[in-house]
Amino acid sequence: MRVIDLRDQDLTRSQLLEAMPRAEMGTSEASELVQPILDNVKANGAAALREYEEAFDHIHVTNLRVPKEAIQAAVDDLDPVVRAAIEESVRRARAVAQSQVPEPFYTDLADGARVSERWIPIQRVGLYVPGGKAVYPSSVIMNVVPAQAAGVESLAIATPPSKATNDGLPDKTILATCAILGVDEVYAVGGAQAVAMFAYGAMGTEPQDGVVLCEPVDKITGPGNIFVATAKSMVSGIVGIDAVAGPTEIAIIADDTANPGWVAADLIGQAEHDELAGSVLITTSESLAEAVQAELLKRVPRTKHAERVETSLRGRQSGIILARDLAQAIDAANAYAAEHLEVQTADPDAVIGQIRNAGAIFRGNYSPVPLGDYMSGSNHVLPTSGTARFMSGLGVHTFMKPVEIIEYDETGLKDLAAKINAFAVSEDLPAHGESVLSRFVVDPYDKETL
Ligand code: NAD
Repeated sequence: MRVIDLRDQDLTRSQLLEAMPRAEMGTSEASELVQPILDNVKANGAAALREYEEAFDHIHVTNLRVPKEAIQAAVDDLDPVVRAAIEESVRRARAVAQSQVPEPFYTDLADGARVSERWIPIQRVGLYVPGGKAVYPSSVIMNVVPAQAAGVESLAIATPPSKATNDGLPDKTILATCAILGVDEVYAVGGAQAVAMFAYGAMGTEPQDGVVLCEPVDKITGPGNIFVATAKSMVSGIVGIDAVAGPTEIAIIADDTANPGWVAADLIGQAEHDELAGSVLITTSESLAEAVQAELLKRVPRTKHAERVETSLRGRQSGIILARDLAQAIDAANAYAAEHLEVQTADPDAVIGQIRNAGAIFRGNYSPVPLGDYMSGSNHVLPTSGTARFMSGLGVHTFMKPVEIIEYDETGLKDLAAKINAFAVSEDLPAHGESVLSRFVVDPYDKETL
């Protein structure tokens, strides 16, 4: 991995950001490709979906909506060891999600003057589960569990048909996970076309589709490749979206107490996702940096996806940052705003207390990212590409919206009537004031009587 030495440099925030490694997203080129897909699915429904599944996944899908029997069969045939792992993951994710459900509250401001807030679940949500290069049953859990805890009434999942089985159905472990979670609206549709189906709905074109294949959703969540991310950003506004996910990334803040083999293994684990994945080590110890490089040389050739890992670790999006002290390391981590931030230092809490920007923080030597990917109970759909500066990961809040309820009675409103009228007149919107005054004076339009 390349080394970026910040030790003698005093950089401004923007210079620091510039110095940190990160891949470009490049969604503008993908938009040209995605726009006709969105238009075609909107106009031609299921026929367009079949056309794109053949073009991009090279699979003819007879049943775009996966039959319920196929979902049940997948769980019946599931390896019990994998089933136990999925169930453990669901159990932990549910426990955390349930404790995230926000409580309603109210504030009494004066006699007869109350504002309350209620959190309302989004009614219908479309969850995208990636399935191109790898399959992600864990992403089913990470999307479905918080949505269910939020009380979402209608949940649909879209995921590409499996190239491995070539039977027009999605990956069986994904289907089995849907069954375990009680989700039976699943579509064998991937990519931008799946996002279009969720945003606009899709009419059926074959008898097995029914008249309406898929009703439109209110919000689309879930990670995906560049086509999925671009399509989500293009339909945002027509429907809600969680985020536009870029390539996955890890930053590790480590000092000389860290174990170089474990640090290297964590960097490799992240690089395994994708050639564009970013793996960044931020360290105050030159000897740790050297030991990690030596570990990488030993370990990368021995891992299954060595080529992908090597491309990712050698890419401009990865690197080792040398910091003169922990304060500089923390500044670098805050500027980078990693999707995943591991802290492997002698006193991790002292570091974590100063972290402002991270999708999720993995504290200490025994909380590596794969724990969070699968089973910690936390959510693994996290803000990428520096968006952790202003966004959080997926959670129950993603699937709910707060609504304020304004509850004033006669006394409460009367006490404010003159002030509201003064505001309204100052904004040259006198009818606003007249609306309030109508309740208390005979002729609110006669300024003489006020
Ligand atoms: P994917 O399901 O996102 O995309 C596959 C689909 O892309 C295919 O079904 C096809 O329809 C479409 N496609 C492929 N080539 C195309 C082309 N040339 N033109 C138009 N459409 C095309 O699966 P993927 O490709 O494996 O990507 C998954 C991504 O999701 C990875 O980047 C991975 O890192 C990310 N991911 C992120 C998280 C997270 O929590 N942040 C979790 C899991 C996966």
